[in-house]
Amino acid sequence: MDYLFRNLRLFDGTSENAIDNAAIWVSGNKIRFAGSQAQLPETPDNLVEEDLSGKFVMPGMTETHAHLSFADASPFAIGETLVEEATVTAVKNARLMLSSGFTSAVSFGSTYKIDVALREAITEGKVIGPRMLAAGRDLGATASNVDSGGGLSQIADGPWALRKAVREQRKIGVDVVKIFIDGEAINNQNPPGELSFTDDEVIAVVEEAHRREMKVACHARSAAAVKQAVRAGVDFIGHANYLDQEAVDMLEKKRDSVFVGPAIAWEVSYLEKCESIGVTRETVISQGYQKEIDATIETVSMLREAGIKLVVGGDYGISIAPHGTYAKDLEYFVELFGMSNAEAILCATKNGGLAFDPEGSVGTICEGTLADLVVVDGNPLDDIRILQDHAKLQVMKDGVLYKDLHNPNPYLANSPNS
Ligand SMILES: [Zn+2]
Repeated sequence: MDYLFRNLRLFDGTSENAIDNAAIWVSGNKIRFAGSQAQLPETPDNLVEEDLSGKFVMPGMTETHAHLSFADASPFAIGETLVEEATVTAVKNARLMLSSGFTSAVSFGSTYKIDVALREAITEGKVIGPRMLAAGRDLGATASNVDSGGGLSQIADGPWALRKAVREQRKIGVDVVKIFIDGEAINNQNPPGELSFTDDEVIAVVEEAHRREMKVACHARSAAAVKQAVRAGVDFIGHANYLDQEAVDMLEKKRDSVFVGPAIAWEVSYLEKCESIGVTRETVISQGYQKEIDATIETVSMLREAGIKLVVGGDYGISIAPHGTYAKDLEYFVELFGMSNAEAILCATKNGGLAFDPEGSVGTICEGTLADLVVVDGNPLDDIRILQDHAKLQVMKDGVLYKDLHNPNPYLANSPNS
């Protein structure tokens, strides 16, 4: 179906500005025109026309640190959810992610083989959800942060064993190989700053993955971990909390091809909601999480200064930061990192889109891009938190308009409970 949306405020994701009295013409799954209504070319008359009465329209967002297979369990028990339960939950999470305004997802690790199955089901139209780059299990060394058994980990040591592990992921259809370079303050066996791989091992993973048309995403908190990742050519760097100038300079040299996601939801929610998972606030502070937030704020300001592409997303899918709350990340970008609302939205749209597809098919609303739109009843340039209210969002993905994703039939408006 082809659409003509009129009378809208267009934020096309190419700049920080929005234009009033705009129109968008969607032909098939692509944008045919987006811009001032006055410049709208002649359109055929079989279009579905909608007057959006001044509503804000922005590109679909990309969650670049997605964990659709995580079942909102305690962060201490992520890999313990049984495969059957995790799979069913992932199907539900996929639809929830789309209803949150996120039309694309770069996975940062999957339990079992759920991501790959989910991506296939979404592509075939059997399941409603974002378009996905699927990850395999987290790949880590013995005694790395992920060496805890369960459905999340795949352990290998030495370049050749790691190359084999990457090939195994290729065989099952993975797009993104997720590795753990350093660790986590709650993990005695591998805290941040302690590298679990040698350079040779990370280089082997990246070289093997790139040769087989896969990307590499990593968990890297310390400057040393990020430097190891950049030297090896990792594509997506998650966390990057404690960077020094040298790490930032190394990133700057590769700023056209590397994406950094601070993924601060984990620290903020852990500090806020620790009691709900049986940990006192004093413990969390003594573990260093307040310091980690402070260090991340400093790091992000250096990264912005250097023009590094920052992306939105981070570890949603645990009890303290559940699925569906992904847009909180934009609030953190504004409140913690001092970005303007528009800059945060660009991180979620333009930058996230480039992370998903370097060719730029998603993340902006321009002639020829895929028709992924979020229609917002309100103005996120005034209040970024409005993006967290699903009832105020209407989503189009790939030219398909979902009137109400909370309705059992999402193509119709007005579900009884919305
Ligand atoms: Zn993660």
